[in-house]
Amino acid sequence: YEELLTFQHQMQTVSHIAAGVAHELRNPLSVIKGFLQLSHLTCDFQKYYNTIISELNRMNIIIEDFLSVSRKKNTRKWQSPANLIQSLTELMKAECLLHSVELQVQFDKTPSICHINESMFKQVMLNLLRNAIEAFDEETSYRYLKVHSKEIGEFVHIELIDNGKGMPKEVLNQLGRPFFTTKDKGTGVGIPLCKKIVEDHGGQFEVSSETNVGTNVKIIFPLLL
Ligand code: ADP
Ligand code: MG
Repeated sequence: YEELLTFQHQMQTVSHIAAGVAHELRNPLSVIKGFLQLSHLTCDFQKYYNTIISELNRMNIIIEDFLSVSRKKNTRKWQSPANLIQSLTELMKAECLLHSVELQVQFDKTPSICHINESMFKQVMLNLLRNAIEAFDEETSYRYLKVHSKEIGEFVHIELIDNGKGMPKEVLNQLGRPFFTTKDKGTGVGIPLCKKIVEDHGGQFEVSSETNVGTNVKIIFPLLL
């Protein structure tokens, strides 16, 4: 219970994450600045070019994972998550095709209506999509990502099921901790942000996973009744 309390405390505001993101951005910025000054002094730009580009790329990844949400207006509309997913499928399909992942989207026939901030919802879906794509080992030849949406009681359940490498218990236990990442170029911002957004919508965010089997991320939103 105590653990749950500290966890909720960590999750209480995005500002905690935002502060960390600002910090994370300052590091590459100062590297870039230093290398530009060096290249100016030494008249050898070539030598520092790769570092500057890779630091810029890193900043871009951090911004994609987080900042694009906080920039947008915070308005919610009554709309169907299935329609929102539909509007993302072209983008998701392209992304999946690029990584040899089969995308299987499946909805209920009647669209469920929830109170959703569109840009935040999209941010959640894209973060989860990216995590799924990054979860595949080179050796996995048949890769799939299933996106299922269905009504259960007073909620709509959206599931993202991948057959990637899954997570061991140690990773699952730490999931949701800001800046927790197992990736070389990870930010650890995606999952905490998704969880925060879903919970701000009065919903629930659940993850189950098994090593070498795959991961099932479930986001649950309350329905318009
Ligand atoms: P990042 O993707 O930058 O590492 P996230 O917060 O998005 O940060 O994810 C945190 C960690 O959770 C990842 O580093 C990874 O270990 C694990 N993870 C998230 N989604 C999946 C998934 N679909 N399959 C396997 N592991 C995952
Ligand atoms: Mg991620």
